[in-house]
Amino acid sequence: MDSLFSDIQGHASVKSGLIHAMKTGRLHHAILMTGVAGIGKSMLARAFIQAVMCEQSTPEALVRCGSCRNCQRIAKGMHPDVIEIDESTATIKIEVIRDLQQRLSFAPYESDRRFVIIQDVHKMQDAAANCLLKTLEEPEAHTTFFLITSQVQRILPTIVSRCQVIRFAPFNFEEVAGFLESRGITPESANQTAAMAGGSLGAGLELSAGDYKTEVIEAFEKILHVSSTLDGFGIAAELKGKKSLSDPILSLLQIYLRDMLVLKLVPGAPVILRHYRPMMESRIANVSEKNIQRASLLLQEINEAFLGNVNELVAWERLVLGMHGVLF
Ligand SMILES: [Zn+2]
Repeated sequence: MDSLFSDIQGHASVKSGLIHAMKTGRLHHAILMTGVAGIGKSMLARAFIQAVMCEQSTPEALVRCGSCRNCQRIAKGMHPDVIEIDESTATIKIEVIRDLQQRLSFAPYESDRRFVIIQDVHKMQDAAANCLLKTLEEPEAHTTFFLITSQVQRILPTIVSRCQVIRFAPFNFEEVAGFLESRGITPESANQTAAMAGGSLGAGLELSAGDYKTEVIEAFEKILHVSSTLDGFGIAAELKGKKSLSDPILSLLQIYLRDMLVLKLVPGAPVILRHYRPMMESRIANVSEKNIQRASLLLQEINEAFLGNVNELVAWERLVLGMHGVLF
């Protein structure tokens, strides 16, 4: 493995694929990076751009020194030939893409290459996407696009078809827990946090940092203890407006179901959510394997619903009541 990206966790085949493409002159002009948030997509794209533009680098030996003027300016987002679009608004408007095209109509400033990174490319309105499509259809030899998204299903197929799609696989549970432990988090806490992180190191770090995690656990436990349909409606109403909790809660529930299934198939087997083992064991006799699988599918549907434009309260109700009805 090339040591170029050794400080970036995982994604070995993505790294070697990009390096190989660059060295053989076959780098695609538009690369769509997909995968859950906080998994390292942008970090890897920037590291790769550094390797291409580093003053120490040659086409035969890509290196990324991290300290030359180019490496530093790319790290700070200040290199004139690395354009990054990172809109804080809910959508990316057509004007933003038009501005970009205007900039691209000039030659690169300093080098013979230029890179464009568009964050959250799924936020493009249709008009913006169609505008970008024109640029992607008429590629310039010296410009490479990195389109970054956690919601590839929201991107127009015409855009996707113009890109090389690179999927970033989520980290497995042990990798996230191990990473958090390497950052000084206790094994017990790392274990619990990793269950919420949905395979994302970034989400794991964010959850470790503040009160967010406590809020997630409180909501998760309420969902596990729903006593009636009426109670379920009340809990869903409390959760309304806390959409940011949905990812870690869905992740925890998936692992809870996974543990239930393991216990159903192999009584006494080790589980991930050790803290909840007594509760699982008290419930396991009343739950069928089929119901556990149904609940797991329901969670996937609700995840899609949260990503789309559904009424948030309805999504929480489906989650809370659905889990209650199927599992408990
Ligand atoms: Zn450098």
